[in-house]
Formats: sequence, structure tokens, C-alpha cells
Amino acid sequence: MLIGIDLGTTNSLVSCFRNGKAEIIPNRLGKELTPSVISVDADGKVYVGEIAKERGMLYPLETARVFKRSMGTNKEYVLGNRQFNAVELSSLLLRSLKEDAEVYLKEKVTEAIISVPAYFNDLQRKATKKAGELAGLKVHRIINEPTAAAIAFGMDKKDDSRYLVFDLGGGTFDVSILELYGSIMEVHAIAGDNYVGGEDFTEVLCKMFLNHNHISSDLLDIITLNEIYKVAETCKCAFSTMDEITMSYTIEEKKYEMHITLDDYENACSSLLDKLRRPIERSLKDAGVTLNDIDQVILVGGATKLPIIRRFVSRLFGNKYSCDIDPDKAVALGVALQCGMKARDKEIQEVILTDVCPYTLGTEIVMHNGMFDETGHYLPIIERNTVIPVSRTQTVYTAHDNQTQVNIKVLQGESRKAYFNLLLGEISVPVPAGPKGKEAIDITYTYDVNALLEVEVYVHSTGIRRKVIIQNEKNQMSDEEATIQLEKLQYLKQNPRDEEVNQLLLLQGERLYQEMPEYRYEIDRALTEFEQVLARQNRTEIELSRKKIGQLFNEIDTNLA
Ligand code: ADP
Ligand code: MG
Repeated sequence: MLIGIDLGTTNSLVSCFRNGKAEIIPNRLGKELTPSVISVDADGKVYVGEIAKERGMLYPLETARVFKRSMGTNKEYVLGNRQFNAVELSSLLLRSLKEDAEVYLKEKVTEAIISVPAYFNDLQRKATKKAGELAGLKVHRIINEPTAAAIAFGMDKKDDSRYLVFDLGGGTFDVSILELYGSIMEVHAIAGDNYVGGEDFTEVLCKMFLNHNHISSDLLDIITLNEIYKVAETCKCAFSTMDEITMSYTIEEKKYEMHITLDDYENACSSLLDKLRRPIERSLKDAGVTLNDIDQVILVGGATKLPIIRRFVSRLFGNKYSCDIDPDKAVALGVALQCGMKARDKEIQEVILTDVCPYTLGTEIVMHNGMFDETGHYLPIIERNTVIPVSRTQTVYTAHDNQTQVNIKVLQGESRKAYFNLLLGEISVPVPAGPKGKEAIDITYTYDVNALLEVEVYVHSTGIRRKVIIQNEKNQMSDEEATIQLEKLQYLKQNPRDEEVNQLLLLQGERLYQEMPEYRYEIDRALTEFEQVLARQNRTEIELSRKKIGQLFNEIDTNLA
């Protein structure tokens, strides 16, 4: 069975295509969203999703979040006394998602299509694929998140349209401009800001609360700060249905409060909103269109549920934005449709996807600047947002007298200075010695649909050609390394799933006990009762008790009790 996975920075979703339609697969707790959080305890037991997020409140040092940001890097996370990189953490998450899907679908899941941000470079895409393989999934395809969202939105529409996908997730903002004509979905431009997202809007609310109550965050321990953050997140989400809210939190038996209106909150967020403007402008400019040329704005990502974001979008685009599809699910549903296309399901018409290269590719050259030779200049060869597959050639000349070899650096990035761009590889060719500038060399970059870059150099005078395919060997694992990594991960015990809901409740109670001194008596009594019920191991009794106590804890959690 083939499944679709929206592997998000904050939340992940699983989907599939069954009985002629795309559907979201709920996790073991019956929820559609699984927090992208991993927690590992001292015994090496792994917790994934909701339970890991809850554990993270009490054990922040054993818990990892937003590791998607570090895909393709060597960053190590130390959880408990074990080390993980982002690929390993992602694979633990993927393994859990896969198992939940198997339980729900009642069949083995072997293959997946995984979505990634459009700006993910080659390394990050390969890292994602690797994570899938470590989780026991054959990654059939990697697809861009905005493309998936646009497919989900555009499948049943006949007309050709130009879309702007506005994706504001937990920690990232991505803007993409796509066009659907006939059965071709083409990405025209992508832009974004990797450091702004829903969490920043929560942060603003936290700061407002602390300032309002004259509390200095330096004096608070990390657990208290996490709890205030959690309360702020709940209040932020409450703005979806209310125009004003009261945020409250008790520290050492003293209750602090803040009452704010949506307008106050919007004012406090103005610099964040300004930050959102830039990527929109850049994507429009790169696509060569204006605001008026956009037919539909597709809202994606949990943070677009914030009314201040909706206001912001409608101020820019009028009412051209659509919430036909739940912003949480758009990407996963699009990936499911892609699964349907892969399986050649008769219910679904194939949409051909085209892509753009997310970064400029170029090389380093010496610039002759009057009297001086300036080294380290960047010469772009394929500009960012060029539709792929593409092939481009630039001619360069020898830079020094009697040079016998030319080294070509293959670089990726937008900086004027070669040094600041990412070195993907190098290739050299011999040239006949002579005065500088005499020998002409053609450099051809070819970028294929799988985002593999091929570089060819050609020396005019000698006819010598050299070719390399840039594979990022140093980040590729050998089979042996992969086996070792796999063994290391399999050694870790997964948390038994039937106990998970119970543990989640115990953890929630534990946290509330620390967080809400005024309810300690009730919480303690409920926890003790639940522990006794668990010890008796009677399923029906456990379920009844869990329901009752769960309700109590939720009421305390939302401050209603
Ligand atoms: P990602 O794509 O990064 O995994 P999501 O699309 O799941 O992230 O978005 C997560 C963000 O959406 C969080 O910051 C969360 O607070 C925010 N969010 C979710 N629901 C709401 C809501 N109703 N109102 C405001 N923000 C919300
Ligand atoms: Mg997302």
C-alpha cells in the first residue's frame, strides 16, 4: 500500500487514495495531526507525537522538535544520553506514522510519497528520502508542498488558473506561485522566510503577557516558561472564534491575567506581518506577475487560521483567498491525490507537475576590474526559479598567464561573493598555456527533473570535454553505514501503543499538578485513582476511568474547572 506523508516542521499528516478519493488517515489517538516531536527517555524508549510533546513539557532535554530545519546538516541532538541527527529523528517519526497507518488501513504499508518545502535543496531532499528508507518505506517520490496544496485545490476546477499558495506553518513561511493549464501544473516562483511562523505569533502573546504583568522571563525556569507558552498558544488559537480573550497563569499561588482584543494583538504583531510581505513581493517579481494576476490565494498551514493573517491576506488580495480546504490538510490531501495518480486510479486525471530550481546555480570567476583582478566573484548560470529540466551555458576565459588548468567550482546560492554560496562540487580541465583570457571554456549546467545537476566543461581550442554529475558524495551513506544506522534505531524500544493513551493522561496530570497548585488536591486524587485502576488491568474499567479523568484534566487545562 502506498501512503502520502506531509512531514511538517510542527505537525505531520498521513493520507491515502482509496475508493476514488483522497483521505486523511488518523493516528493511534484518532487525531489527524501528529506533532513532529520525538522524546527518548533514559531507558532508550521512544515517544512520538502528542505524547512526546506532552513529555517535552516536563523533560525538555529529552525531547526534540523542529528538527526538520536541520535536515541535510550534521546537527546532533542529544536526547537523554543518546545522539541523533535530523534524519534519524525523522525516521522515528515516519516509522510511527507508518505503523499507525497500517493499524488503520489493516494492511502493510511499504511505499510513500513525501512532501517537502519547495525551497528544499538537493541535500535536504535526499535526507528526507533516507529518513523514509530507515523507517522501512520505499520513497516513491518527493513532491513539493505548495504543488500538493495546489493539486488538492485545483483538481476539480476546469479552468486554467494562477495560484498563490500562502503557507504559514509553525516556524516557516512559504509563498509559491503556480499555474494550472490543461493538465499541467507549473511552479513559477517560490520564496519564503525560514524564520517566521505561527510560533512567533505565540511568542508575541507570551511577551505581552509577561510585560503586562511585569514578570521578567529571566527569573522563570524553563518548565514554567514552557507552560506559559502553552497557555499562550491556546489563547492564540481561541482568537479564531473570539474577538477578545483573557490569558491567565498562576505562579507561586499568585494569579496573573491579561485581557486583550484582537486589534491589540494585531498591533503587537505588526513587525511580523511586515516580514510576510517581502517573500510575497519577491515571488510575484520572480514570476513576472502582479497582485492582480493572481486568481486564487490558497491558504495552507495552521497559522493561516489566525484572523489577523486572514485580514492581512484580504487587505492584499481582496477576497480572492479560499478556505474551501482545511489549511491543515491541504498538503496531505494533495499528496494523496498524487498517490492516486501513481496508482493510475481511473477516478483521477493525471496532472503533470513541473518544478523550478529553488536556488541559483553558478560558478566562481575572476573579474577584471580596470587595473585589478578581483577574485571570488559569483557568476550565476541557472537563475533561481527557472523551470526544470533546463540546460544553460556560460563561456568563461582563462584568468592568469600560462595557466594550464581551469578549476570550475559548482556553487549554489544568491550571494555576489562566491565564498558565501554553497560549494556543491568541483571539476577541472587542462588548457594550453598562453596569455590570460586567450582560452575560452564553455560551462554547461543541466538540471534534470529529479533535481540532479550535471556539469559539463568544454575547451574551445582543444575540444576536450569533461562531465560530472553532482551527487554530494560526502553526504551519501555507504550501505554498511546505513545498516549500522538502521540497527542503532531498531535497538530503541517503541512505546507500546495500547498503553499510550493511558500514559498520556498520567503525563498530563503530572504537568497540571506542577502547573496549577490550586487544583493539586483534585489532580492528586484523580491520578491515584487512575493508577489503581491501571493496576487492576480491567479494560472496561480503565476506559471508563480514563474518560472521566480525561474530562476533568481537560477542564482544568482550559481553566474551566
Ligand atoms: P508545519 O507545516 O510547520 O508543520 P502547521 O501547518 O501544522 O505547521 O502549523 C502549525 C502552527 O499553526 C502552530 O504555530 C499553531 O499554533 C498554529 N495554529 C494551529 N491552529 C491554529 C488556530 N486555530 N489559530 C491560530 N494558529 C493556529
Ligand atoms: Mg506544513
